[in-house]
Amino acid sequence: EFVPVFQNEPFSDFSLEEVREQMEAALEDISNYMGEEYPVVINGRIQEPHEMLLSRNPSNSSQIVGRVASATPDQAEEAIDAARRAFKEWSGIEAKYRSEYLELIANEMRDRRFELAAWMVYECGKPWVEADADVAEAIDFCNYYAEQMRFLGEPRHRDVPGEENSYYYRARGVVVVISPWNFPLAILTGMTVAALVSGNTVIMKPAEQSSVIAAKLMEIFSNAGIPSGVVNYLPGNGEDIGPVLVNSPDVDMVTFTGSRPVGLEINRSASDTDQRQHSVRKIIAEMGGKNAIIVDADADLDEAVQGVVQSAFSYAGQKCSACSRVIVMEDVYDQFLERLVEAAGSLVVGAAEHPATTVGPVIDKAALDRINEYIELAYEEGDVVLATDVSELEGEGYYVGPHIIENVASESRLAQEEIFGPVLVVFKVQKLNEAFEIANNTDYALTGGMYSRSPKNLQQARLKMICGNLYLNRGITGALVDRQPFGGFRMSGIGTKAGGPDYLHQFLIPINVTENT
Ligand code: NAP
Repeated sequence: EFVPVFQNEPFSDFSLEEVREQMEAALEDISNYMGEEYPVVINGRIQEPHEMLLSRNPSNSSQIVGRVASATPDQAEEAIDAARRAFKEWSGIEAKYRSEYLELIANEMRDRRFELAAWMVYECGKPWVEADADVAEAIDFCNYYAEQMRFLGEPRHRDVPGEENSYYYRARGVVVVISPWNFPLAILTGMTVAALVSGNTVIMKPAEQSSVIAAKLMEIFSNAGIPSGVVNYLPGNGEDIGPVLVNSPDVDMVTFTGSRPVGLEINRSASDTDQRQHSVRKIIAEMGGKNAIIVDADADLDEAVQGVVQSAFSYAGQKCSACSRVIVMEDVYDQFLERLVEAAGSLVVGAAEHPATTVGPVIDKAALDRINEYIELAYEEGDVVLATDVSELEGEGYYVGPHIIENVASESRLAQEEIFGPVLVVFKVQKLNEAFEIANNTDYALTGGMYSRSPKNLQQARLKMICGNLYLNRGITGALVDRQPFGGFRMSGIGTKAGGPDYLHQFLIPINVTENT
């Protein structure tokens, strides 16, 4: 069994003045580098840009964080060729040396911790604490997968007299990594370094909204000495270059994290094979969630209120693990709701650059419009008990404050669709079984939680709640690498848990060799 000795990277403690000063200095320093250009990088070479995408600061949309090249379909083909050419040599390197590259990458991230966090504050509107945790998670993915690959790199032997058996792993080939913007460094790093350390070569297609931070990651890969062509940086429009990447006969695997429609489309189209193809493409698609927390009649309400607020509204609810439904036992419903509304209503909504902000902006105008449509729907489908007014922030960025809605049917759109914003629906139930039924009444199965003092009821939650990551008496976001391997099933995704012991196996092909001696 693989037993890691690695330790999770600690979070920065912003209650300390010197730590706050370091973050402020990084934000100040980076503000001098706004609007720079970031080209496509194929085979270690910078490509002349054709068209540029503008990456804006969601807290202040007039500020352009970077001008990022939009790769063409031809460049997508070139990147695949480069990755294919680099594969033979890279996959031939011993696993332990590839692991060392990951540790170099982690070390540079640690050295540049505040700078990387500051880029996420500007580019993705991540509040300080969230941006810092994103860097820590990226570091964890590097160190954890490095350690795991050292273990997997050793062949397993099962010899008997007259027969030697060895079981080992080989890499799959060319991997396309398609990532979302909400964990702009951690998820992109996790998927990419997992592919690399297993001996695969990569085309990295970040979300448009987080292409600058992805360019910083590409820079870190080059600084670590990863050979040309082993990772290629291909920012651009997913609808244009995505199908080229996903359907190329030279791509062996696609690793996607993002929304359900895109994940399902990738899974569908990648299953078509053409004659030039030399392997059946392997797909990982990690998708959305509609996650619920149950509050039992005997729950510690202080803890429950805090955990629900944190899970539903931190990073403005833009986490696949976020709580978007809370199901409360009748006995404590009024008391809980009153306290929840008060706590959520007092959260500071504002620019992510400010240290006091807990609810930053949402990622872009399209997200703002989509969330506001759901809020309009909330007035039809239920009763809005908290509608935070953000009118004084209007015009600067993409702000929407926390909203809480009650008296919503479990089948309603509000209770079924992933809103991906600070919108929470609250249900009142008389029996615990009813709570489990509502919690499970969704296509998704990502995270879930329950607050209760009753060991019997907590045990019921273990047995009955259908989700990949269940959290008892704590918030449902913030999974740590190795301690809480993360991922869902049902419509939340296909693939095993990121940051867990099975993850790298997906990037590897097991081989058995028997010699008659
Ligand atoms: P998204 O719109 O699905 O985009 C994800 C990536 O797919 C982007 O790089 C996007 O490029 C690309 N893409 C779009 N259309 C494509 C196509 N036809 N072919 C190939 N690629 C295409 O998702 P998002 O808004 O970035 O992220 C939010 C979603 O991610 C939420 O649903 C959230 O729950 C989910 N998520 C899940 C997990 C998990 O672990 N389960 C973790 C984080 C987030 P463009 O940027 O150019 O459109």
